[in-house]
Amino acid sequence: MAGQLNLVVLGKQGAGKGTQSRRLCDRYGLVHISTGDMLRAAVQNGSALGDEVRAVLDGGQLVSDDLVNRLVAERYTMPDAQAGGVLDGFPRNLAQAEALEGILVEHPVALCVSLEIDSHLVIERLSARRVCQECATTYAASDPSAISGTCEKCGGDVVQRSDDQPEAIARRLEVFERDTAPLLDFYERRSILVHVDGDQAPDDVTRAITDRLEERALV
Ligand code: AMP
Repeated sequence: MAGQLNLVVLGKQGAGKGTQSRRLCDRYGLVHISTGDMLRAAVQNGSALGDEVRAVLDGGQLVSDDLVNRLVAERYTMPDAQAGGVLDGFPRNLAQAEALEGILVEHPVALCVSLEIDSHLVIERLSARRVCQECATTYAASDPSAISGTCEKCGGDVVQRSDDQPEAIARRLEVFERDTAPLLDFYERRSILVHVDGDQAPDDVTRAITDRLEERALV
């Protein structure tokens, strides 16, 4: 399909990947492909897949490459994904990045945005993060929707993620450094990596990303 745009947003947990990915999708008519959201939805629905991955998610470990590769490949067969997608939380390691190249043979990833923040800020942000179980909108603990426990967008329940607890956060940061950080080199070698400071107001982060997309004439 002509004109399919695929973007990868990389970054530590709490760097703002979800927020920025959703904004890019709204702006450019792309689908948000968040493997974390897909897996959490499976756990919440009580599907067989959810039962299989619940403990892995709660412990902050990664689920198998085979499983997430399949989820992403299936997502790309759906009609709404034909204009392209913003990949958030996938790929998480080199094997997944290679699998993604196999999935996107005709329209490879056009840009990988690395959202950068210090680890101390990750702990601060994640400890205060609350998430709508229905639409996955994130809130700070001090936001009205987090205090009331009801999402202002969809009326869903706003809760703290079970893996946003201190031990799981530490584990996820280790996994990021070990498995995901090497992807920066992978995309740098393909000349499609851009670094964006994630420690700015969300609107400024969005502007920095959209500027990069425009500079490269991708939008
Ligand atoms: P996230 O919402 O991206 O932080 O993902 C939440 C959890 O889902 C992770 O801690 C992993 O257990 C699992 N997960 C999400 N994406 C992947 C992936 N690409 N590979 C393996 N596990 C993943």
